Amino acid sequence: MESASITFPYVEVLVDQKITKPLCYENRGLSLQIGSRVIVPLRNKLVKGTVIRHLAKPSFEKTAKIDSLLVEESLTADLMQLAKWMSDYYLTPYQKILVTLLPSSLKKKTEKEEQYFIERKGTTQQLTDAASKIFDPSNPQKKVLETILMHPKGLYLSKILELAQVSKSPIDTLVKKGLLDLKKIEIDRSYFQHEEFIKAPAKELNPEQQIALDRIVKKMQSEKFHTELLFGVTGSGKTEVYLQAMQRARDLGLGVIFLVPEIALTTQTIERVRSRFKEQIAVLHHRLSDGERFDAYRGILNGKISIVIGARSAIFAPVNKLGLIIVDEEQDGSFKQTEEMPCYNARDIAIVRAKLQDAVCLLGSATPSFETFYNTSLDKYGISILNKRAKNNPLPDVKIVDMRHEDDKKKGHCLFSDLLLDKIKERLEKGEQILLFLNRRGFFKCQVCTTCNETMKCEQCDVCLTYHKGENILTCHLCGFTIDPKKANCKKCRSNDTMRFKGPGTEQVERALKAIFKEARVLRMDRDTTRHKGSHDDLYRQFKSHKADILIGTQMIAKGLDFPSVTLVGILNADSMLHIPDFRASEMAFQLLSQVSGRAGRGDFPGEVILQTRLPDYQVIHHASHEAYIAFYNEEISIRNQFGYPPFKKMIRIVLKSLDIDLLNRYGAYLTGLIEKNKEKDVDVLPYTLCGLTKAKGEHRGQILIKATKFSSIQKIAVLIQPQKKIKVLLDVDPIQTFF
Ligand code: ADP
Ligand code: ZN
Ligand code: ZN
Repeated sequence: MESASITFPYVEVLVDQKITKPLCYENRGLSLQIGSRVIVPLRNKLVKGTVIRHLAKPSFEKTAKIDSLLVEESLTADLMQLAKWMSDYYLTPYQKILVTLLPSSLKKKTEKEEQYFIERKGTTQQLTDAASKIFDPSNPQKKVLETILMHPKGLYLSKILELAQVSKSPIDTLVKKGLLDLKKIEIDRSYFQHEEFIKAPAKELNPEQQIALDRIVKKMQSEKFHTELLFGVTGSGKTEVYLQAMQRARDLGLGVIFLVPEIALTTQTIERVRSRFKEQIAVLHHRLSDGERFDAYRGILNGKISIVIGARSAIFAPVNKLGLIIVDEEQDGSFKQTEEMPCYNARDIAIVRAKLQDAVCLLGSATPSFETFYNTSLDKYGISILNKRAKNNPLPDVKIVDMRHEDDKKKGHCLFSDLLLDKIKERLEKGEQILLFLNRRGFFKCQVCTTCNETMKCEQCDVCLTYHKGENILTCHLCGFTIDPKKANCKKCRSNDTMRFKGPGTEQVERALKAIFKEARVLRMDRDTTRHKGSHDDLYRQFKSHKADILIGTQMIAKGLDFPSVTLVGILNADSMLHIPDFRASEMAFQLLSQVSGRAGRGDFPGEVILQTRLPDYQVIHHASHEAYIAFYNEEISIRNQFGYPPFKKMIRIVLKSLDIDLLNRYGAYLTGLIEKNKEKDVDVLPYTLCGLTKAKGEHRGQILIKATKFSSIQKIAVLIQPQKKIKVLLDVDPIQTFF
């Protein structure tokens, strides 16, 4: 089969350029397989492409010859099979899928960043002498010398600062004295080569963890496809189960892919995996440079690397003998590609890939997606439950505060309830740490008149104009009306220059907090403070080493972070997510609230959560405060069933984009009609509307939502959509959000 095919004189190639039709080339004696990557002439350039078929005869007359074979990039047979499935399911041309699967797609942006690394220049004797000449044990230079003496291979500057608790200046002095050396190195490539390796032993599992592990191992041994949901509250020890399952997979000679949400791809997760498995690991993320990525890719292809950790696109890593795929926080939205086709969900690809390779797929979550939980109820997936926190500390105590009363008391929009302020004070006195969470998703900054309190609204739509920082405009999310914030005048009292931004951002919270607790050390983690590579890790380290008392943050602090000395979590605006007109709004709010609450009391002291809301009667708030997932699921799933939403029906979102809004609207209406006319009986077409995010990058955005019972009906609709001039069409299968 494969080996015989080498003799075929012609092949079909899909080039990486935007040509969806395969081209025919003559093979001049290269050993080509399906999935081989080649360089071929196209017009008068050389381009890269993928071999998709062998041919005995050329499919047209004058075929050019293949230029050369790219040995280190080939797509393995199983990935080619996966690509076929993806092309059918995500309604995306095969060529585009292949490009998605290539290692270059693991990269979005390459910004090389450097970090300082400290090595000793003097001998051990010289360093010891220098340290012993300083008598004061709190002398910064002495502390640095002692730290470096304990770490003979050297340390990152950030690490030394953390360990020695000093500023950079004593290090500079020691460099000047010729005792230390300070080097700049590219962080990722060298990260783990330099860091010392301390192997952490596996923990003895508790009975629930053991049962879960045994189930997974048994399935891996049988080498049959299986999907298992590991359902356990935060801190119940899921990660420990992943790590031991990975070890067992390795013992069986199987490869592993471990997917984590992009945001969790931080030092913390990586450190935990690193501490168990040393060299056979590759961490894939979009900040890798070309060199780094190809190092990793080559290692994976030749089997030197058998464990791959990464975000979404790591699911395409060509791991040998893949036996286990773990998806942590399987419900996480970052696994879904939404702005570009194929709009794949790496969680679903994980399951399909496991199926194609007779592997085990392990999905972990404290708040599983409804799709996943529904599948366990149908016995399509197995389920293992961890009911208790691993360290046996109780779940945090959650108090709901009705902010409407607080607003009344303070005669205006209140940011911190009295209860929360009391609790913060108490924690600061005890020297314990605090997390404050501010939800920004679906939460918009708007302008309010300082004279009459009127908000800046769109005259046509009566909704708040929201501020877009990038373009510095106020815009209406429904009609796209925009205005320069400086020119915005109050429409009610007609005052000039009275409009001010309202609605707290993390920055405002930080300022307000500092004004109340002047002594408190406050850190902020949001998009602004973590824009630079490594800054997320830095903030994390600072907070973990207790350089701050309070951490204020957005979604970023909700996921995966483990701070043992946090005993209080304040959720400032629990309900802003519920205002989003999306059938998943409650599900997402529940997930987020549970995740945030789960950050409290992970150490030895019990945790407490203050949940501030202006919608205290909402069931989702109530259930989230009890981590009552199943009660919440049962309630919501019946609503989904009643209204025919996923997982009961298949859904596809057709997003249309154009610079010309009239053209867009006309085409939207035309397409809706066309689909209505040609659809199968099981199809429901929702009317064409503009998206919640009406305009992005200068393009207007509209959408058509379609529900169907059978997937084949959706495939038939996709065929109706022909390429249009000046209109971009994006087909989002199984959309995770249907508004923005
Ligand atoms: P999850 O991934 O479910 O949030 P983790 O695996 O992070 O939970 O576990 C929470 C804490 O409990 C961690 O500090 C972990 O080291 C610890 N832990 C997990 N399993 C055990 C165990 N069997 N014995 C003791 N400690 C454990
Ligand atoms: Zn409007
Ligand atoms: Zn006014």
